[in-house]
Amino acid sequence: MPTEHVDVLIVGAGLSGIGAACHLRRDCPDKSLLILEARANMGGTWDLFRYPGIRSDSDMFTLGYAFKPWTEPKAIADGESILSYIRETATEYGITEKIRYQHRVVRADWSSETARWTVTVQREDSNETVTVTCSFLSVCSGYYRYDQGHTPTFVGAENFAGTIVHPQHWSGDLDYAGKRVVVIGSGATAMTLVPSLAKSAAHVTMLQRTPTYVASLPARDPIADALRRRLPSRIAYQLIRLKNVLFTLGSYQLSRRRPALIKRYLHKTAVKRLPEGYDVAKHFGPDYDPWDQRICLVPDGDLFRTIREGKAEVVTDHIDRFTETGIDLKSGQHLDADIIVTATGLSVLMLGGMTVTVDGREIALSKSLMYKGMMLSGVPNFSMTIGYTNASWTLKADLVARYLCRLLNYMDKHGYQTITPVAPAQSEDTITPLFDLKSGYVLRNLHLLPQQGAKTPWRLYQNYLRDVRLMRRGSLTDDVRFGYAQPVLRPHDAALPSIRAEVS
Ligand SMILES: Cc1cc2nc3c(=O)[nH]c(=O)nc-3n(C[C@H](O)[C@H](O)[C@H](O)COP(=O)(O)OP(=O)(O)OC[C@H]3O[C@@H](n4cnc5c(N)ncnc54)[C@H](O)[C@@H]3O)c2cc1C
Repeated sequence: MPTEHVDVLIVGAGLSGIGAACHLRRDCPDKSLLILEARANMGGTWDLFRYPGIRSDSDMFTLGYAFKPWTEPKAIADGESILSYIRETATEYGITEKIRYQHRVVRADWSSETARWTVTVQREDSNETVTVTCSFLSVCSGYYRYDQGHTPTFVGAENFAGTIVHPQHWSGDLDYAGKRVVVIGSGATAMTLVPSLAKSAAHVTMLQRTPTYVASLPARDPIADALRRRLPSRIAYQLIRLKNVLFTLGSYQLSRRRPALIKRYLHKTAVKRLPEGYDVAKHFGPDYDPWDQRICLVPDGDLFRTIREGKAEVVTDHIDRFTETGIDLKSGQHLDADIIVTATGLSVLMLGGMTVTVDGREIALSKSLMYKGMMLSGVPNFSMTIGYTNASWTLKADLVARYLCRLLNYMDKHGYQTITPVAPAQSEDTITPLFDLKSGYVLRNLHLLPQQGAKTPWRLYQNYLRDVRLMRRGSLTDDVRFGYAQPVLRPHDAALPSIRAEVS
């Protein structure tokens, strides 16, 4: 059987993979396309996570695709609505039939001789190994492991008589009604879980080692509602998106330039929403500046309300050990628990765990420089999608997909078969990790992430408007080498026509 070949192969049928496929259908309709997905369903994150209250923590007008208006009433949406939106988009753009499920990509090998990737796939249903070749590889595999979350070792965990669960592995039949629940963590997942569990649990404690900044946002956006009532849905959507992009970018820039101002504002709004005399500084006043780590958004201040109503509390302390009945804290306090939820984060996994080689040389992601936040120096015909850390993921995913379409059309027009970003020499001290967040999961995983250089197109500014200029309208030819397949000349091939030279 000849190996199947496609023009573009997308790894992953999550929000990014489905989005990329839609862009390709629209802007490069003649390209053959295949999506390989390791799981049995599409949707990625929004299909995997099933914990109570699962929702977005950024607004859906920017987490939604640029090309498909978000029409649900809520701007901060629940996981099920986001999953339906992804599925509906895939159906609308004829993507559903392009997905092959339970196909885990385990390696991708580039050959300059053929100008093709050979992609090795492990079938999760039959355990069979199959190969597919493609001209361009677009990796949309997210950034974390699906099979396990990040859980630190807790001394005495084996003695706890109740249930310990990681939100990533929430089981639908876990009954928490009337139970005492301790949620360990201070990130978006913990803040989502607490108000939701508190609706029926006897009591919920959010146990955090250090506090996080928390900002309240209306779950329904009144300006968006007004625009949607008056304008056709596409126009309203674009205007709301622009408003939210400007708001997010503006508040991020202000946080970086005037951190004290934003700190004061966040403190004041928390004081207003929490009970009188509440120790806001201890539980919601980190000692770092806003956006050194992500700010958590809570819709309609639901976390603060739950605390005010006495259904949940925040404890800021260190764990000494788990006991049979709960958790001993370093301060000497004991927290009684029937259920302990370890909302302690994700386990970062880049490129979906794939091994990637170029002409037999394995690519070490942590030693690679990223080009325009989407390609790697020295790796031909390859892109990867990583969203913003300070704005909705899809803003960047859309830009990456559109850039890819522009690039493919440009290459077709000029007859090129390959594109390889080539980094100019960089001095060691200007090379920095891709993300400048100081969050635990970023610091824990710096050794897994690609690097960035000193300036455009090798630097990631985490700035959507800047990226729009760079990727939607900017040059396609800066710091790249276009070329062709390079058949290796062997002695008996002497009569072959000469190979066309690579074009800079
Ligand atoms: C609980 C939670 C809430 C979040 N909320 C927000 C939010 O509100 N706003 C925001 O901007 N971001 C949020 N994020 C980040 C979120 O991951 C992105 O918004 C977005 O869903 C990422 O989409 P993706 O398709 O790139 O990755 P994923 O959703 O992770 O999908 C990747 C897909 O690739 C598949 N895959 C991986 N490796 C392979 C392989 N080797 N072979 C084949 N298939 C593979 C996976 O099975 C999966 O289906 C959240 C993340 C989590 C975990």
